[in-house]
Amino acid sequence: MHIDIITCLPRLLESPFSDSILKRAINKGLVNVNIIDLRPYSLGKHKEIDDYAFGGGAGMVMMIEPIDRCISDLKSKREYDDIIYMSPDGEMLTQPVANELSLKKNLILLCGHYKGVDERVREHLITREISIGNYVLSGGELAAAVVADAVIRLLPGVLNDETSALTDSFQDGLVAPPVYTRPSEYKGWKVPEVLLSGHEAKITQWKYEKSLERTKNRRPDLLS
Ligand code: SAH
Repeated sequence: MHIDIITCLPRLLESPFSDSILKRAINKGLVNVNIIDLRPYSLGKHKEIDDYAFGGGAGMVMMIEPIDRCISDLKSKREYDDIIYMSPDGEMLTQPVANELSLKKNLILLCGHYKGVDERVREHLITREISIGNYVLSGGELAAAVVADAVIRLLPGVLNDETSALTDSFQDGLVAPPVYTRPSEYKGWKVPEVLLSGHEAKITQWKYEKSLERTKNRRPDLLS
């Protein structure tokens, strides 16, 4: 898989991909994450990428031209399954959306800033819009990193235990059961007996019951 992230603040995207699972996935060649600085695509004397909004109002708007030149440049190198603008009014990122994106080959994630991008970018240059929640961030970078993380961890070979992503919350419409590790007793607080029993069928049943119980208590919306 190949993910290009277009941003005017490339440094914001350095650390999410330089540690742990995502770093390993990149080093293993399972995914290629390319952070693309938008600014060099500006033809302006000062490499400006934003300007005042027509009609007035507070906040700068990202100009279409650098974004168009950047996307055109990328499209000349490969074909993209989706060109996604990160946007608070986009389609909500959910596990099924992450699952679907993980099957794609080439993706562009476009990060907005300030008041967002010129509407013509949304009308003509992108194929899809994704939001990570009903709140407004100052830029699309953190949102793009969230999307990339949710997608990359699903790629075959990224997680050590291949079934691990399948037992996470939301994959089966339930939230995950509680988990424990050593010591089996701490300050008198005990790990449920069944998990120490070695009885696989009973453990599976217990996990399922706990998942169901948790989903009923915390996320009844998932059951309806
Ligand atoms: N004026 C816009 C918000 C702009 S926020 C509005 O009211 O809708 C600046 C940028 O941050 C956006 O262009 C977008 O790329 C990103 N962003 C902000 N909140 C986001 C969210 N919840 N999900 C995804 N991207 C978001």
